[in-house]
Amino acid sequence: MFLSRREAHRSLRSATPLTRTIRFIAGLLLGLALTLALAGCADSRVAFSESTEVTTLRVVATFSVLGDLVQRVGGEKIDLRVLVGRGGDPHDFRPLPADQAAVAEADLVFAIGPGYEVWLDRLLASSGTTARTIHVSSGLDPLLTDSGDPDPHVWHDVGQAIHIVGSIRQALAAAHSADAAGFDERAARMIAELTTLDDWIVAQMASIPTDRRRLAVNHDSFGHLARRYGLEMVGAIVPALAGEAVAPSAETLAGLVDRARESGVVAIFAEKGTNSQLAAQLAHEAGVPLIDGLYSDTLGPAGGEAETYPGMIRANIGVLVAGLAP
Ligand SMILES: [Zn+2]
Repeated sequence: MFLSRREAHRSLRSATPLTRTIRFIAGLLLGLALTLALAGCADSRVAFSESTEVTTLRVVATFSVLGDLVQRVGGEKIDLRVLVGRGGDPHDFRPLPADQAAVAEADLVFAIGPGYEVWLDRLLASSGTTARTIHVSSGLDPLLTDSGDPDPHVWHDVGQAIHIVGSIRQALAAAHSADAAGFDERAARMIAELTTLDDWIVAQMASIPTDRRRLAVNHDSFGHLARRYGLEMVGAIVPALAGEAVAPSAETLAGLVDRARESGVVAIFAEKGTNSQLAAQLAHEAGVPLIDGLYSDTLGPAGGEAETYPGMIRANIGVLVAGLAP
């Protein structure tokens, strides 16, 4: 059982010099073992490292996409723990005791906000944390879904991701002003990169004939992308505020088939790795191909094309342009 850094400090103060030395060496060995174990772990679901830098901010991000943005702004000055790692579904997440411990020890918690991490309020309360929680979607231009709720998938609009980077920079600098210059510099670099990416997407979309810029998808998570880059959202099987576990009624699916046929969509798009029989059925009945290469609520595997936020966005646009172009 690992002691937290604060527990370790407490127990060190109450021990004799000899046991202090033994515990210190044991702590170093444990730290080394933990570092080696984490180095071989592809998932980002890990505990805080036992950093000796006392001014390091302990930061939690709720899921992989937000975690990448936070890490890029924070650099080495933060100790980041991501709750829902690569491949996980933030809509349908059950926190474990280790997640509660991470939140309890955190200085800052970054989340998309209401409607997305529906499990977060309870986790914050049960952890007893004093961390400041930042909802990065607050202040963004809301996009209402068919049910009247704001669509939380704001990161698919790169312009909104640029605002999020600004919110992250501000929160990190407020929590640790000594590192503000570094946070500013990394955020500025990130914003320049994302501005170039945003321009590239606009140019890519311009290559698709107007009458083919229509989107029918499995999970309703690309409304923000459609709004910013001029695509018409025809429909989705799984609602924006639900995970893949939620299946639509037969009537809903039949209505979607009708809309897909009438609007003349040229493909049905689904998330990468989704083995959605309903999406396959929709594509079959609409008489168009099913393309399952999109990333919606998670980054791709480490080392792959969608390892980072910009990589994920570029991969999605590549899939959309290839699927929609004549
Ligand atoms: Zn989603």
